[in-house]
Amino acid sequence: MSSGSAVATHAHNDEFNPFLSMQKGFDTAADHLGLEQGVRKVLSMPDRELTVNVPVLMDNGKVEVFTGHRVQHNTLRGPSKGGIRFSPDVDIDEVRALAAWMTWKCSVVNVPFGGGKGGVICDPRSMSIGEQERLTRRYTTAILDIIGPDRDVPAPDMNTNEQTMAWIMDTYSMHERKTSTAVVTGKPLSIGGSRGRLEATGRGVMISANEALKMIGLRPEDTRVVVQGAGNVGGLGAMLLHREGYRITSISDMYGYIVNERGLDMPAVLNHLREKRTLEGFDGADYSTDGKAQLELDCELLVPAATENQITTENVDRIKARLIVEGANGPTTAAASEALSKRGVTVVPDILANAGGVTVSYFEWVQDRMGYFWTEEIVNSRLEQIMVQAFAEVRQTSEKFGVDLRTGAYILSIGRVASVYRMRGIFS
Ligand code: NAD
Repeated sequence: MSSGSAVATHAHNDEFNPFLSMQKGFDTAADHLGLEQGVRKVLSMPDRELTVNVPVLMDNGKVEVFTGHRVQHNTLRGPSKGGIRFSPDVDIDEVRALAAWMTWKCSVVNVPFGGGKGGVICDPRSMSIGEQERLTRRYTTAILDIIGPDRDVPAPDMNTNEQTMAWIMDTYSMHERKTSTAVVTGKPLSIGGSRGRLEATGRGVMISANEALKMIGLRPEDTRVVVQGAGNVGGLGAMLLHREGYRITSISDMYGYIVNERGLDMPAVLNHLREKRTLEGFDGADYSTDGKAQLELDCELLVPAATENQITTENVDRIKARLIVEGANGPTTAAASEALSKRGVTVVPDILANAGGVTVSYFEWVQDRMGYFWTEEIVNSRLEQIMVQAFAEVRQTSEKFGVDLRTGAYILSIGRVASVYRMRGIFS
């Protein structure tokens, strides 16, 4: 974990265990729903977990063995769906939590998928492209029996991208003896990707921010935004918010952040980052390596779009934003979330705010299976329709139960999964 992280020192504290955080949200919602014991038990455990140790021939001629996981939390509403991340910090509790969040996320936006997640413990920054390709192909082969267009459909996540998905698709297709594009989403356009998928999560963040602004009575031009993370979600989300008229005053990556109260020229920031691979040296903004301090900057909207456990009991009292839109998965611990709720800070929870990615992944899967591809306008307008409806349903649910948006989102999504469970019954 980088020096910029807010969580570096508390890996063994329960507050920082993402699975326990997820479980807390689940339990609160289950209590509100009066969920019967059997359904509660089933939904709190993953359906299936696979851990694999895969050998990879490194460029120096030596063999390394990498450990990876694929967890399928639930498949009641359809094939499990969820990203694969490459990171030295991957651990099974994290993958379990992320898999469960995917079940709730797919249910919040009502796409016909369950939840899954994968992760490989590795540091791709220290690996060549060839080593990354061999690792991806061998990991895919190791989990081959449990993935597939009708079983479990991976997607990109931290440190994996379109190229990684292309390797997974090709490896799966070679084993199946036919091209099978719908086995992963987030692919390049030329091999069955969807228009609009790359920026879909950022676009969903923007749509969520727009809806939340209407709810609390703010205008984009009066909204200063601090964004943590400058990758697929943070970078592209900040760009879209900038285009929408929001004032992006700060953005960070794992090494540090830039800040300018008058607002950053986002296209120029992203160009600088692409060319120099660092935010440092960007003209017209101050640079700092104190990542913790960035979250405490004065602003109306904070978008944590990097990683888990960034808003915690340690820093929650110093967070100044009145609105938080969670681009990352699990950026706020359960205890910090309660504190924010008590203080009246509006939090659009991850399972709603970053669901744009899985929604367009669903569109990609549909297009692959039809062999008929949509225009970007169609993708974007269908995404907007789904996100606006999901936001309204979460808001109505939280008003009905007198709870915050996070609990409302859990109640809505868990209620939907539980009703499918009752309808299908238990196969025995
Ligand atoms: P990414 O690898 O493209 O970008 C991550 C960014 O966060 C990078 O700029 C990195 O430098 C920065 N970062 C990492 N650790 C940091 C730290 N401690 N402090 C500040 N910056 C830090 O990853 P991504 O796809 O943008 O994913 C970001 C988050 O969004 C993850 O939690 C992921 O699970 C979630 N998410 C991603 C998608 C998607 O479609 N990509 C969809 C839903 C949720």
